Amino acid sequence: MVVDFDAIVSIDLIEEFVSGKLGKPKYKKVVRSTKELIERSRKFTVLVQDSHTRGDPEIRVWGRHAMQGTSASETVQDLKGVGPVIKKHTYDAFFGTRLERVLKEKGAKRVAFCGVVTDICIIHSVASAFFRGFSPIVVEECTDAASPAQKRRALEYMKKNYGANIISLTDILGK
Ligand SMILES: [Zn+2]
Repeated sequence: MVVDFDAIVSIDLIEEFVSGKLGKPKYKKVVRSTKELIERSRKFTVLVQDSHTRGDPEIRVWGRHAMQGTSASETVQDLKGVGPVIKKHTYDAFFGTRLERVLKEKGAKRVAFCGVVTDICIIHSVASAFFRGFSPIVVEECTDAASPAQKRRALEYMKKNYGANIISLTDILGK
């Protein structure tokens, strides 16, 4: 059965995490799968971009990255323009942003989370979605982490603790 859903939240598919200093070439596949999901499902999509100032707590952990106003914090070319952009300042896409309001205005309840990385920004955003009453979905091909083990553990954690529906692109788009 094809899983139905209401909206897509793309997290950190920005230059920094694809071709920048924290990027990995394999994340280009995540961009391709996410693009396919957006184009074929035609669901409302929000592009969440990491966007930091020097005082953000994360800068102490990771150093300067995706700094506000730089091209590194911009959505990758392939996904630009598919929906509204929301800038976030920590791992959680909801914390201090208008994401909850934007999704609720669209009547979205079942939200598919895409992007990188599975065990940091995705897991924190899925937790936050769960706390706010959304039903989170994670499409396996549309996310990745530094290692397969880190990805697998994060997916299992989200399933067990937040009731996240972990599915494949085929489950959501059909054959
Ligand atoms: Zn960051």
